Amino acid sequence: MSNNQNNSLICHNGKVLPVQDATINVMTTTAQYGINVFEGIRCYLTNDEKQLFAFRLKEHLDRLFNSARLLRFNLNNETNPDYIKNQMVKIIQANGYKQDLYVKIGFYVDGTAGWSSNGPIGFFILPTPKGRVYEDKEGIECCISSWMRINDSAISPRIKAGANYLNSRMAFMEAKANGYDYGIFLNHQQKVSEGLGACIFMVRDKKIVTPSKTSSVLESITRDTIIAIAKEHLKMDVEERDIDRTELYVAEEVFLVGTSVEILPVVSIDRLEINSRKIGDVTQSLKSLYFNIAKGNDSVYQNWLTSIY
Ligand code: PMP
Repeated sequence: MSNNQNNSLICHNGKVLPVQDATINVMTTTAQYGINVFEGIRCYLTNDEKQLFAFRLKEHLDRLFNSARLLRFNLNNETNPDYIKNQMVKIIQANGYKQDLYVKIGFYVDGTAGWSSNGPIGFFILPTPKGRVYEDKEGIECCISSWMRINDSAISPRIKAGANYLNSRMAFMEAKANGYDYGIFLNHQQKVSEGLGACIFMVRDKKIVTPSKTSSVLESITRDTIIAIAKEHLKMDVEERDIDRTELYVAEEVFLVGTSVEILPVVSIDRLEINSRKIGDVTQSLKSLYFNIAKGNDSVYQNWLTSIY
């Protein structure tokens, strides 16, 4: 077992290779135009360290195939969700990993026929050990980005495409240059949409609120998880509606959610402190519930888990 990505094994077009041997031609459509789609999936080790569970794999694979469909990728018949799932289990086992992982699955337009070509489609699956992000901080300092979130009539945020991250990159560079950890996008209607690689929630008047799925967001699987457990376990109302920028400034709690960031408290926005920079009760409860479910300790949500071993 290794933590060095260079020594790890990748599944590339169904073959198991050392990751440095999984190469593509520089003239391919993916390399030239960034025409690719992907997913990031977490796997969690159980407390007894005997089992590894992929979290909400079915939903990630559904979104991956929808992203490919929206960009009209010509997938061959063999490349279906069951096949990709089996390849993912195999490549994690081949690496022998028994620790928390982040698995990246990508489909890309191979061949050199240019930006409008539909194939051939290549794929890869790479599991990498990954723990918590921003672990050294109580929460992160955000700004409202001056960059607008992409929208469905130009480049759809519903598609999890590599090229969509140009938008996130612009906002991240700006946030860093101005001394913030991270940015929050407004959409073309000047309402809050999402973080750079995460969805956003606030607590206002004891209600949990998040922008709707049509407010220029990625249809986040963690967002869906949080809505379900807030209703089921915390018995709280969850509103999916427009959020004004100034509502965030006066919210009781603000947090970001996503596969990579999991549940991440926001301690300030545009230097206005949220909840005196402390992690709020709702955020804390959702965080505990999330990890409990992801590690297989909640019998209600076993259908969200796929066993790797
Ligand atoms: N929005 C964006 C732009 C993202 O990149 C991500 C990360 N995939 C999310 C939201 C969160 O989505 P998920 O919970 O499915 O990881």
